[in-house]
Parts: sequence; structure tokens; C-alpha cells
Amino acid sequence: MPGYEKVKPPENGKKIRYEDGKLIVPDNPIIPYFEGDGIGKDVVPAALMVLDAAAEKIGKEVVWFRVYAGEDAYKLYGDYLPADTLNAIKEFRVALKGPLTTPVGGGFRSLNVTIRQVLDLYANVRPVYYLDGLPSPLKKPELVDLVIFRENTEDVYAGIEWQRGSSEALKLIKFLADKFGVQIREDSGIGIKPISEFATKRLVRMAIQYAIDNERESVTIVHKGNIMKYTEGAFRDWGYEVAKEEFGDVTITEDELWDNYGGEVPKGKIVIKDRIADNMFQQLLTRTAEYDVLAMPNLNGDYMSDAAAAMVGGLGIVPGSNIGDGMGVFEPVHGSAPKYAGQNKVNPTAEILTGALMFEYLGWKEASEIIKKAVEMTIKSGIVTYDIHRHMGGKLVGTREFAQAVVENLQTL
Ligand code: NAP
Repeated sequence: MPGYEKVKPPENGKKIRYEDGKLIVPDNPIIPYFEGDGIGKDVVPAALMVLDAAAEKIGKEVVWFRVYAGEDAYKLYGDYLPADTLNAIKEFRVALKGPLTTPVGGGFRSLNVTIRQVLDLYANVRPVYYLDGLPSPLKKPELVDLVIFRENTEDVYAGIEWQRGSSEALKLIKFLADKFGVQIREDSGIGIKPISEFATKRLVRMAIQYAIDNERESVTIVHKGNIMKYTEGAFRDWGYEVAKEEFGDVTITEDELWDNYGGEVPKGKIVIKDRIADNMFQQLLTRTAEYDVLAMPNLNGDYMSDAAAAMVGGLGIVPGSNIGDGMGVFEPVHGSAPKYAGQNKVNPTAEILTGALMFEYLGWKEASEIIKKAVEMTIKSGIVTYDIHRHMGGKLVGTREFAQAVVENLQTL
């Protein structure tokens, strides 16, 4: 068991365990959380209020273990991501976080990326669904019901890059010229895009398993393999391979669907499709209902999950998670929006629904459902934060008041 320098795990509550590939969740799990930066200070306490009420409603209790990351951690430890925090997540397996600020173009490396890499949380999983009453640019937003599995450890996001003019960049440029005859301008920064069979297969495996467990209809592999053949193209090929080799009895390809079944999905089968990323962006808008579970590399996944978020009401709404084997860190899709920090202004819905997603991961489906319902009831009753208010009016409230209204609605369910 790891020791802790400046925090102490709560004495009541039990640890979540992971045995034979399954989480064993007690009725009173200890769950580490941190508020993070900027609006994390607003949305995380609001979300905890709702999560506590929902857990109580189903006869459970979360025993929260406060840890630190970002500015708070720097003040306390002189370190933005102290070992205490990583150790707590490792020990207790499931954690809730607020957003963390990352400076652009310099400063320290993204703490989010570091957390994902250090804990090997290889899938970023983001469900995107529509809550009745929210403003949407789509004519039929109720057709959106996606779960995006974004690979979290590789691609150009792996952080393997060198500044223009650095000795590493110049050496690489020379190496590529000398050995492979590849010409790159000397004033270039250089980034590397690794995509491996191992990381691709474990991501697509998780996506297909999710589709099976949740009775989804299809898994679409999204890639830019027409241009980047040996990275993105290989992602597609390995995706199909894992479907065929490990889930051959429950999956069929789109070609098989048309060739053997006349386009009619046989009962109990999941269709594996693939789409080129740019086409996928437009199909999400034009043929929304045809997409279900999506699996894609890191960079495409980042763009697509924000674009999908916009379809159902924006960044203030959509929850997210980073999942590894027997470990999950749950976070909203939005960032720390520093200009709104501490103003009790922003929408806590994404953080609240992130908590609901965490409950789902714990197997507390009922709690997750009542949270979603209570949020929907609140929005439908016209109680909204500024981001929703600017599109459709209603009764404008602050972060805390919105969460209180959700708790009140939840009590009626
Ligand atoms: P952002 O913090 O997500 O904010 C962008 C805009 O989205 C806000 O200005 C606001 O729009 C809207 N928004 C975000 N959260 C909202 C909420 N809860 N309620 C209502 N509206 C919300 O993105 P950013 O400004 O690009 O990034 C700020 C910092 O966060 C950066 O340091 C970035 O690296 C970091 N970041 C962290 C994470 C993470 O921790 N996982 C994720 C993304 C970004 P309006 O201005 O239109 O009102």
C-alpha cells in the first residue's frame, strides 16, 4: 500500500478491488477526487452534491478522498501533479476530477496527458446523448446517442516532439535525409505519430466489448487511412482484425451485412464499419442515427468528441472518462475556462453527468439513470445556467443553484 505525504485516506469506506478482470465495488467505496483548476472549483462541489444524493437514493455512499492536482497541488506540494494523487488513484482505482489548465506552446506538459499515460488509461470514453430541452444546432438532436472511444496514449498526442532548431530536431532531419532521402525544411519542429497494433487492438476490443455489454448495434472505426496508411490505415486493419479474431461470433462487417443479410442486421450481431474521419464529421450531422459506438485514434477523437458535444448542447454538457484495465478517471470534456473561475456561473451538467458515468462504471446504473433524469427535468423546467440561457432564455441560475435544483428533482424520483 502506498504511503501518503500530505493527504490521508478516509478511515470509513472500503476499497474497490479488481479481480479476474472485474471490478468489485463495495456499497461505500472510497473515491479520490480533485477539483482541479479554474471552474473546477465551481463544478466539482456542485457535482458532489448531486452524486451524494443519488448514491443515498439507492442505499449507497461514496466516501470521498480529497486529493490535489493543478494550482492547488502546486501551492501544497510545489508540484502540479504530486505522487500522493497518482498513488490515490492507483490504490482506489476510480477517481473523479475537475479540469486542469495546460499552457499552450510551452510551460509544463499537459497534466491530463500525464495522468493518462502514467496510469495507462488507454481509452478516453465519451458518451454523447441528447437531454430533452437543450438547445442544439441539429433538427433532430434526439437521434444523437454515441459513445466515442478515443485512443489515449499514442498518435501525435504521445508528446514525442522537438522544437524547431533543437539539436534533436536537426539530427532527425539529417537522419531522414541521409538514410531515407526525405527532405524536411530545417526550420521545422518535428513530431512523431506512433500507432501500434497493441494499443489499437486493446482500444477496439474495449469498444466492441462495450457494444456487446450495452446492446449497441454497431462499432465504427474512424481513421484517416487514405492518407496516413501505415498509422491510421493500420488502425483500421487492426480494428477489423480484433473484431474477427476475438468477436467473430457476434460481429459482422458492413460488406457481410449487405452480401449475406441484405442489409438487415441479424439479431444479436454488431456491425463493424469504418469511415474516413472527414466523411465521419459530416455523417455525424447528416446521418446521425446510423452511428453508435465509434473507435478512433487520439487526435481525431479529440476533435470529434468536441464536435459531437456541440450537437447536443455544448461543452458544458458532455461527460468523459479515461479507462484502463480495472481503473477509471472520470472528467468532463470541457476545460478549466479560467475567465469564469470562481464566479458560480458555469454549467455543472458535464461534471454531474461525468459522475453519472462513473456510477455506471461502478455498476450503479440506477443512480446514473436518476441523475440523468433529474438533470433533464431541471433543464426542461427552464432552470438553466448562462450558456443554455443565452440560447433559449429561462430562469438564469448559478452553478450551485442549478445543482440544488437537480438534487430537488432527484428527490422526487
Ligand atoms: P474550455 O475551458 O473548455 O472553455 C471553452 C469555452 O467553452 C468556455 O469559454 C465556455 O464558452 C465553454 N465552456 C466550457 N466549460 C463550460 C461549462 N462548464 N459551462 C458553460 N460553458 C462552458 O476550453 P479552453 O478555453 O480551450 O481551455 C482552458 C484550459 O482548460 C486550457 O488550459 C486547456 O488546456 C484546459 N483543458 C483541460 C481539459 C481537461 O482538464 N480535461 C480539457 C480541455 C481543456 P463561452 O466562452 O462561449 O461561454
